[in-house]
Amino acid sequence: MRSLAPQHRSRRNLFPSSHPALCAALALAACLCSTFSASGKDWNVVSLGGREYVTDENVAKFYGFQRFAKEGSDRIFKHTHLIMTWKVGSQSIYVNNIKFNLSFPVVDSGGKAMLSTVDLAKLVDPVVRPSYIKKPIHFDTVVIDAGHGAHDSGAVGPFGREKDYSLDMALRLEKNLQAKGFKTLLTRRQDVFLTLSQRVAIANGQRNAIFISLHFNSSGSRDANGIETYALAPQGTRSTNGGSPWSSPLSGNVRDAENIALATAVHAHVIHELRSVDRGIKRARFNVLRGINKPAILFEGGFVTNQTEGKQIDDPAHRQRIADSIAAAVVKFRTAVAKK
Ligand SMILES: [Zn+2]
Repeated sequence: MRSLAPQHRSRRNLFPSSHPALCAALALAACLCSTFSASGKDWNVVSLGGREYVTDENVAKFYGFQRFAKEGSDRIFKHTHLIMTWKVGSQSIYVNNIKFNLSFPVVDSGGKAMLSTVDLAKLVDPVVRPSYIKKPIHFDTVVIDAGHGAHDSGAVGPFGREKDYSLDMALRLEKNLQAKGFKTLLTRRQDVFLTLSQRVAIANGQRNAIFISLHFNSSGSRDANGIETYALAPQGTRSTNGGSPWSSPLSGNVRDAENIALATAVHAHVIHELRSVDRGIKRARFNVLRGINKPAILFEGGFVTNQTEGKQIDDPAHRQRIADSIAAAVVKFRTAVAKK
């Protein structure tokens, strides 16, 4: 692994609104509440190859992790109910065993593991202390988007079609959320076709709402399986699946922190509850995420093209369990961002 030499250093408060002490945060990935007392005062920002980074030690100190260990290229940060692991050279980190895809890999500089300030501000901070998200939405409505419809079947597997599964799961999620006291709006309730911009317009027409788009996956490889959840890629970063970095801001980027917090809550709940294969929380610029000015995610609930997973998805009881996990995650997200 190439070790990068720092080009300049500056001390800065990357989160001007945050008060470093006495922070009660909910670790969204933990499904548990923990008290997180950040003890550091500011960040020592280092420029490497034209990009800004912070060190592993700075992260450990700022958030007041009770234990911080270096094991070869691994870094382990531990706090009550929260374990975060990094690996130098990797573009993924784990928080409570949930996989997150970074916008930039963790790099080495003089034996220190360095995290980009983009990933610090747009991923780690909103995930480990969502209560610090600035001006979070106070929502009472969940817009549920069943992917595809009519002539657009989406993924087709040996047991059924994505458009039918996504609509069925949307109706199950609606029922559960209504029982929890939320208002709901489905972008479609029948086997009809909507353009992506129609779905965006429905979401943006609601006031205090979040948006959850429900999909199932397909692959040419019959072995592909597992759950993945997408949040909009931050400005200036690549999507997880490639493409060029998008430099201009998108309307969805105003919700970057809430997007990743919502993705974390939903993804972690489903992975924990269903013990599914974790393909990670990923970044994309899907049309349905780009234009939505509310917290928004796109959830892929498994591969209809995989023999085992496709059979599970075809089982209504399995879809009910996913819907129940997502509903519980919505409650978790609302509590986490509202807590001060
Ligand atoms: Zn789809």
